[in-house]
Amino acid sequence: MSERAALVTGAAGGIGRAVSQRLIADGYDVLAVDLKPDPDGPGVPFQADLTEAEANAAAVRAALDHFGRLDLVVPNAGIQHVAPIGEFPVERWDTIVALLLTSPFLLARAAWPALLESGAGRIVVIASAHALAASPYKSAYVSAKHGVLGLVKTLALEGAEHGITVTAVCPAYVRTPLVEKQIADQARVHGLPEEEVLEQVILAPQAVKQLIEPSEVADVVAFLAGPAGRTFTGVPVTMDQGWTAR
Ligand code: NAD
Repeated sequence: MSERAALVTGAAGGIGRAVSQRLIADGYDVLAVDLKPDPDGPGVPFQADLTEAEANAAAVRAALDHFGRLDLVVPNAGIQHVAPIGEFPVERWDTIVALLLTSPFLLARAAWPALLESGAGRIVVIASAHALAASPYKSAYVSAKHGVLGLVKTLALEGAEHGITVTAVCPAYVRTPLVEKQIADQARVHGLPEEEVLEQVILAPQAVKQLIEPSEVADVVAFLAGPAGRTFTGVPVTMDQGWTAR
């Protein structure tokens, strides 16, 4: 049994897998929560649909059952939907808000007693550059990501006197299966080579025209979760390749 235990959601996906791997390398026990958990992936797999309220508390209970403690929660599970406002399906709005905003709230609520006990509790939400700036046709995603930053600030104030820090990592585009599929699709639609789609379409808002690697997001999570991250709380930790500098 390790000295610190973590719960990572969306752990079977691009960023969640990299974060889980890195935390395990750093000596954490990790509960790897996902809608479709990978039995061969890093950490102890746990199946949960986090759009359902009770599943969030169940995931926290599972972490405590497995590890007897919980020091770090990384709400990371996410989905996207791109549509103009007049056509945006209401049920997609509800699902995205449930996963990107309500799930982090429910996880924090359920984990709070364990984080208090930890003495150095941490919540590191994987938000997005879209917590700070908008793009058209992503109303639910942008709203939920902005909202989760409000949650992060509020919990930082509540945790301050208890040694709990709460932060939001805000990356620009990260090389994950989700984005790679977008590149291939856009290349087909625009009749452009993939490198040009990347620069002219996907990476257009970024000053640095490069994708971030999932391991680079994991590095930032590991920093914030560790002793050197102690002074970061209630803030977006922005790794946006110059996106919001404009
Ligand atoms: P991904 O699609 O590779 O992984 C997301 C994971 O979430 C998947 O394994 C999926 O099964 C899981 N998931 C989806 N719905 C779920 C549900 N209802 N319950 C439990 N798990 C569920 O995506 P990713 O790119 O690794 O994104 C991870 C996080 O990073 C998301 O919050 C996303 O918004 C954020 N983010 C991604 C990028 C990017 O460019 N990829 C940039 C900024 C922020």
